[in-house]
Amino acid sequence: MMPERGIILDAGTGIFRARDLIETDHLDILLSHAHLDHVIGLTFLYDIMQGKGTTTTVHVAADKVGTIENHLFNPSLFPVKPNFIIQPFEGESLKLSDGTPVATIPLDHPGGSHGFRFDWDDSSLAYITDTTAAPQATYLHQIQGVSTLIHECYFPDGFEDRAALTGHSCLTPVAEVAAMANAGRTYLVHINPQNESDTPLNLDSVNAIYEKLEVAFDGQIIEL
Ligand SMILES: [Zn+2]
Ligand SMILES: [Zn+2]
Repeated sequence: MMPERGIILDAGTGIFRARDLIETDHLDILLSHAHLDHVIGLTFLYDIMQGKGTTTTVHVAADKVGTIENHLFNPSLFPVKPNFIIQPFEGESLKLSDGTPVATIPLDHPGGSHGFRFDWDDSSLAYITDTTAAPQATYLHQIQGVSTLIHECYFPDGFEDRAALTGHSCLTPVAEVAAMANAGRTYLVHINPQNESDTPLNLDSVNAIYEKLEVAFDGQIIEL
């Protein structure tokens, strides 16, 4: 979440934290895709918005609007209609409610996913999930020179077959992508939650490829 800008990236279970962080009277929520771990939190918005005057626009690829409207908000799954506006996007960019353009980056993932890139005057941010990182990844040119890269890394090294099958990433290819993109710093997210270790990824093993790498943690605050 970028509280000062009123932007949230994806709507997983962690979105409950937004309630205490909202600073704006409007929120833009950008969805990478409609897999449940990225959209389930849309049903939390009734609770999150209770007693607040904040309105919400949810941006999602046009081909996934029906999944949200007809499946997630099917009356037998959830009793009331969405309390937000759905703004479908197509093509290379979307526009936030205030008119600011955001680049949309098509990603390889079962059913398709989109990354996002924000370019501000003195910094930039790219958000890349869910996809399989690789030196030949098609999104590499779209994240070139970004100052902050947030990239998924579901698997440690050694799970390349599973990563390819499920459309997720292993550590070394993510480090290679970050290095090739010349990213200022990179935060790893969407780590396999079934790994109980606090440090499931051995960052030292990719130091020679790319150093400015860290595993993001819940509640972490970063300056953009
Ligand atoms: Zn997914
Ligand atoms: Zn996911």
